[in-house]
Amino acid sequence: MQDQIAARVRAALAPVLGDDALLELDEPRFQAEFGRRFGDHLGPVAAAGPRWSYPLRLVHAERYIDTRLVLVGDAAHGTSPQLGQGANLGLLDAHSLARSLAESGDVAGAMDLFARRRGPSNRFYRSASDLLTPFFQSDSVPLAILRDLVLRQACQTPFVRPMLTGVLAGLRRGWFSADSLDADGRYPL
Ligand SMILES: Cc1cc2nc3c(=O)[nH]c(=O)nc-3n(C[C@H](O)[C@H](O)[C@H](O)COP(=O)(O)OP(=O)(O)OC[C@H]3O[C@@H](n4cnc5c(N)ncnc54)[C@H](O)[C@@H]3O)c2cc1C
Repeated sequence: MQDQIAARVRAALAPVLGDDALLELDEPRFQAEFGRRFGDHLGPVAAAGPRWSYPLRLVHAERYIDTRLVLVGDAAHGTSPQLGQGANLGLLDAHSLARSLAESGDVAGAMDLFARRRGPSNRFYRSASDLLTPFFQSDSVPLAILRDLVLRQACQTPFVRPMLTGVLAGLRRGWFSADSLDADGRYPL
C-alpha cells in the first residue's frame, strides 16, 4: 500500500510543482516545500525514486483514424488537467468505438462514425480545459478569487449546476450542445 501511495505522489508531484528549479532542491528543502504545498494529509512522505517533471500540453491528433489504426484516449487527445477528464474521455472513446463497431456493417464505416461522434466532444473538452488553465495554474490572486467566487455560486445555481454536472460527466458535445444519459442512465453515444 505504501508503495502505491508513493507511486501516486511521485506521479502527481511534478506537474503540480511545475518548476524545474524545485527538482534541484536538496532533500530537506524539497520535503519542506512539499509539506508547505500539500499539507500533512499524507503523513511522512519519502522519495520513491528520482524526481522528474514534464510540461502539461494540449495535444489533439489531426485525425483519429487511418489505415489499420485508430487513436483513443491520450493518444488522440491530451488536455490540461483542470476538468479532470482525461481518463473519462478515454473511456468514452472506447465506449463509442465499441458502439460504432456494433452499429456499422463494416469497419471503415465504424471508424468514420467513431471519429464523427468523438471529435466535437473531445475538442470541446480540450478548449474548456485550456480556458480554465489560468484560473487554476497561475500565481494571480485576482484570478483565484474570481474562480472561487464564480464556481461556488455556479454550483448553487439551479440551472447551472446540472450543466456543470454534465460537463464533469463527459456529456458535452460543444459549448451549446450536450447529450443526456438515456432512461437507464447510460451514455447515449
Ligand atoms: C498527475 C496526473 C493526474 C491526472 N488526474 C486525472 C484526473 O483526476 N481525472 C482524469 O480523468 N484524468 C486524470 N489524468 C489523466 C489520465 O491519467 C489520462 O488521461 C489517462 O490515463 C489516459 O489513459 P490512456 O489509456 O489513454 O493512456 P495511458 O494511461 O497513458 O496508458 C497508455 C499505456 O500504454 C503503455 N504504452 C506506451 N507505449 C507502449 C508501447 N510501445 N507498447 C506497449 N505499451 C505501451 C503505457 O505504459 C501505458 O500503460 C491525470 C494524469 C496525470 C499525469
